[in-house]
Parts: sequence; C-alpha cells; structure tokens
Amino acid sequence: MKVMKFGGTSVASAESILKVIDIVTACREKKIVVVAAMGTTTDALAELSELASEGNESYKVGLLTIEKQHLKAIEKLIPARERSSVIAKVKFVFNELSSALNGVFILRELTPRTYDYLLSFGERLSAMIVSSVIPEGVYVDARELIKTDSHFGKATVDFEASTILILEKLIPIEGVPVITGFIASSHKNETTTLGRRGSDYTGAIIAAAINAEILEIWTDVEGILTADQKKVEKAYCLDCLSYSEAMELSHFGTRVIYPPTFVPVYKKNIPIRIRSTFNLANAGTLITTEGANNSTKAIKGISSIENINMVTIQGSGMVGVTGISNRLFGALAARKVNVVLISQASSEYSITFAIRERDSVAANEAIEQEFQDEIDRGNIHQISIEKDLAIVAIVGENMKKSPGIAGKLFHTLGRNGINVRAIAQGASELNISCVISIKDLKKALNTIHESFFL
Ligand code: ASP
Ligand code: MG
Repeated sequence: MKVMKFGGTSVASAESILKVIDIVTACREKKIVVVAAMGTTTDALAELSELASEGNESYKVGLLTIEKQHLKAIEKLIPARERSSVIAKVKFVFNELSSALNGVFILRELTPRTYDYLLSFGERLSAMIVSSVIPEGVYVDARELIKTDSHFGKATVDFEASTILILEKLIPIEGVPVITGFIASSHKNETTTLGRRGSDYTGAIIAAAINAEILEIWTDVEGILTADQKKVEKAYCLDCLSYSEAMELSHFGTRVIYPPTFVPVYKKNIPIRIRSTFNLANAGTLITTEGANNSTKAIKGISSIENINMVTIQGSGMVGVTGISNRLFGALAARKVNVVLISQASSEYSITFAIRERDSVAANEAIEQEFQDEIDRGNIHQISIEKDLAIVAIVGENMKKSPGIAGKLFHTLGRNGINVRAIAQGASELNISCVISIKDLKKALNTIHESFFL
C-alpha cells in the first residue's frame, strides 16, 4: 500500500487537480491520498481570522474570495449535472466557517483553539473536492483518525491511539481514501493542527500506521536539490539520500519537507519519495535508510541559513571553570533562544555560538542576567554580538569515510577570499558548518558547489 500526499500547489487549481487525478489513477496499487489545502488557503484563513478578531468587517470579502476559488475549481472539474451534491456540501462547510468567523468578529476574541478550528477548513474543503473527482474517492476527515494533545497550533500526536483508529477506520474503506492533511483532534474531540505545513506529517503518520510500502510527497519542486537553486544556478536534484542526510538538508535552507515527517517513517523504515506533480519525467528524490551507498560524491548537498548573529562571551574567569556552558545554554533555553551552531576553543577562554537575528536581544539579556556576578567581577569581560552573518554547511554520509573534505571546503573558501568566522563539525561527520559574512554567501555557495559537484 502506498500513501500519496499532495501539497497545496498540487491542488491549487482545477488544472493542477487534473494532474493529481492522472497521477493517482496511473498508480495500480492500493493507495491512500492525503491532501493539503488548495494553494494558499490556509494563509488566507489565518488572515481572515485575524481581521475578524480585530472587528474588521472586510474578512467577509476575503471569505467570499476563498469560496469563489473553491466553487470555480468544482465548476471546471465536475460536469454540470453531477455538480449539485458537491456544491451543496461545500456550501454547507462555508456556512459553518462563516458562522465561526462571525462569532470571532462579535466576540473580538481569537483563542488558539478557535484558530486551529478555523484553519482546519482549508484541508476539509480540498479533500472534499479531490475525493469527489478522483475515481472511487472517499472523503476521510483526519480528525477521526489522528489523536493529539490539546497543544493548539502544533499538537503532539498520540501515536498509539491514532494507529488503532487508522487501522480500524481506513482499512475497511473500499475505494481510495482522500484524507485531510494537517488537522487532527484532541482526546476531547477539539480540532487541532499539526503545525503549519503539517500535511506532510499527516502522510507520514498514516504511512507508519498502515506499514505502507512508501510515502510519496508530491509537491511543486523536483526533489531535494544539491543547493538552493535561487542562489546556485547549477544546483541539481538528488536521486537518493539517507534519512539523516535528508533531515540535515531539509532543516537548512531548502525546506522541502516538514521536518517532523521523518520521525514516524524512519522508525518503520518506510522510504519517502519526493516528486513534482508538474514534472513527471523526473523521478524525484528517494529517501531511505541506506541512502545512495554507491555514490561517488563526497558530499550530498550544501545548505545555508541567513540572518545569523554570532555571540561570543570571553573572559579569563571561564578557563577551567565547569558549569559555564551549562548555565549559558540553560539561560538561553529558558528564553527560548534556539542555538544554531556552537564552537568553543580548547583554551576555554571564549565560547561562540550562532543564533537567528530575531533572537539576539533575548540572548543578550539572558547572558547579562545569568552572568551578572562574573561580569561585575571582571571574570567575563566581553559579550559581543556580530550581525550580518550566514551559515553554510556541507552535508553527506560519505564524509565519514573520506579525509580531506574539510580541507577542500576551507581551501575553496580561502582561495575565493572568503573569511571563515567560526566552524563546527559534529562527531557524526554528517555536516561541516561554518559562519561567514552574509555578503559572501552567494559566492561561497557557488564556489563550494563548483568544487564538490562539477
Ligand atoms: N495547509 C497547511 C499549511 O499551509 C498545511 C500544509 O500545507 O501542509 O500550513
Ligand atoms: Mg500549504
């Protein structure tokens, strides 16, 4: 059995949905379809919800626009005499949405719980439409399959309860189940969501529960690329990757898959194939446990993060003192500052770490507060935050076996006059990251790509 997940762009219009129908019908095996909301419907719903909660009546105009888009797709996809029952169902759902928004408008209140409920309409509508046009399609509301806690906005899945429900409700279905991505329900039957872009995760949860042979993620990109094509023109699509490589590459920069997606399928050893609905000639990227073990390339891809700030604390009072890093990273965590890269020299005279620009004020406050005493006594004498930086990282399992990769990387950067500010490589040897100036990023990516791939 196969799980085929189609993203927002793949179901954005009648034309795209026709491609989806072709892809699903061409698959002869037993399959389960998962769909995201049409196009940018979820963003639009988020905006309408905000408007309504601010008492801004223009949310009604936006609601009409969404309704028109959905009805237009139905008109193009379904012949006039068969249309009425689908239109009736869709209109019914829009009435429910309209009353919910009206409630928010009157109360001027938008709780996280209501917000999730409002966002759920996108997937419900798209699954309704897709299920009615796919041969033997059967609409399935994921709220009846996936159970979560009540952490609205990004609920945690109860895998045990969900697996039981999925097996019980999905297996007996005769036709092709078309399941709403992204949404779930709490044990109290409140509507929850799995986090923005979470439909991929829905696909993975279903695939793991039924022990699918493969999870196919159909999207608008060809697969996972060697680098971000917006910056590296010569970047190309990778045929095969391991889960770890894919996770590294999808965390940095090119976010092809919603990262939590890997977890349930990885545990069950279910391969993922990423493919574009718009280019069937390309078989996309296959992600498996082993990856491409016959690959001759030293690395698989290059990723980058922009808007990085680098924080350094230094002082003689840190040398040989235990517990400094513990306090430092504890204080940062307490302020929800996410640390992207860490580097400490063995002299222990300084610790350097990279964070996102948006976290820099919180990081500075956290450090000043935590080390107030040391700063007053002069044991820590400097906290510096440097801006306008970026991280580039090279990724690949083959680095483990081959010496000289770091040498090649730094030689490439050096030869091109790019100054490296900080370096980190984990002992897993899957990733070598370095901090450089943002103005050097494009050049760095292109020259590294050139030297490793061409
Ligand atoms: N429609 C949801 C969103 O835009 C989920 C998804 O697209 O995966 O976040
Ligand atoms: Mg989307």
